[in-house]
Amino acid sequence: MVPIYLDNHATTPVDERVLDAMLPWLRDGFGNASSKAHAWGRRADDAVHHARHELARCIAARPEDVVFTSGATESINLAIRGIVAASSPDRRHVVTLATEHKAVLDSCEAVRRDGGDATIVDVQPDGRVDLARLAAAITDQTAVVAVMAVNNELGVVQDLAAIGALCAKRGAVFFCDAAQGPGRLRIDVDAMQIGAMSMTAHKCYGPKGAGALYLRRSDVRLQPLIVGGGQEFGVRSGTLATHQIVGIARAVAVAEADFSTDDARILGLRKRLWSRLESGIEGISINGSVQHRVAGNLNVAIPCADANTLMMMMPNLGISSGSACASGATKASHVLTAIGVPEELGHCCLRFGIGRFNTAEQIDAAADMVIEAVGELRAQSPLWRMKQAGVEVAW
Ligand SMILES: *Cc1c(COP(=O)(O)O)cnc(C)c1O
Repeated sequence: MVPIYLDNHATTPVDERVLDAMLPWLRDGFGNASSKAHAWGRRADDAVHHARHELARCIAARPEDVVFTSGATESINLAIRGIVAASSPDRRHVVTLATEHKAVLDSCEAVRRDGGDATIVDVQPDGRVDLARLAAAITDQTAVVAVMAVNNELGVVQDLAAIGALCAKRGAVFFCDAAQGPGRLRIDVDAMQIGAMSMTAHKCYGPKGAGALYLRRSDVRLQPLIVGGGQEFGVRSGTLATHQIVGIARAVAVAEADFSTDDARILGLRKRLWSRLESGIEGISINGSVQHRVAGNLNVAIPCADANTLMMMMPNLGISSGSACASGATKASHVLTAIGVPEELGHCCLRFGIGRFNTAEQIDAAADMVIEAVGELRAQSPLWRMKQAGVEVAW
């Protein structure tokens, strides 16, 4: 069977257009962008300059507000911990959501460990935060409010403009983790009043290990985590990785240019996948809001079908389960738990991430495979047989 990759929230393949843009900077364009005294350095510096402008244009930012990093994890740590560290001692409080990425939750935990404070706000069953609840968590001590653009498990999108307005009113910096943003959601940092925002290339058809941090330098202060040569306006030291910088800028630019066509096509594929799964699998349901969701995400619960077992039955299908093995025991993800999915059902959730290179034929083949595997698995499930026999079973 031909392998089918539908795990584009975990990572994406590198687009040929991105690879082509990167390769010259791994060959004779090897110069150090800081060595501006000679042609090699100036060429690399030009490439970085161009990439900075290209990326800034895609998010409606000023080029000098874009800092290149090694990925979203670094950008997140730098933003949350760096902004808190640069805040006055009476402003060391951060607010975030229970459904954020671990990099955000652990950065907030680091703030707490360093003597600050963190408030984690619950979300509604559809995965969206209630704005009144979020507002109530923000105090005069709040330095940063961290809310992601697109949830990596559920594909759920928060109301970024409303959250930005809320933060502006309270004098807190709105930090947005937009690792899943480019190519899935259009972002305008000014319109959404975003003060800092993390991005990563490998979630939008660029290379791994290439990230960026948008920082509204006019009014957001940040203490660097990595010091040294003073590159990137002193915010992030280290010799610039020209090929990676060119890679993330081109990946985001391509995602922006192709947004409308990609988005419409991918939405069609997701609807196709759902209609097949829904008609082929009794009791299947969607986790998280359907309305406020990016096109490519489908996260489903399939009662009486253990997700990790299903995935082992389909090694050539690249998808994710909603549970992971943590110190010997399988645990439902913190995101599924946060939206109220019971632990048992949390072990029966599959995440599909449809992307730029998927086809309708792949969707059909994947749906057939999942339907067949669920049938096989349920045939061995006593709980499922009870349900078939008419016994009321609570999921
Ligand atoms: C992938 C991801 C990250 C981490 O990004 P890296 O570039 O892999 O460090 C952070 N947040 C979200 C929402 C992600 O999807």
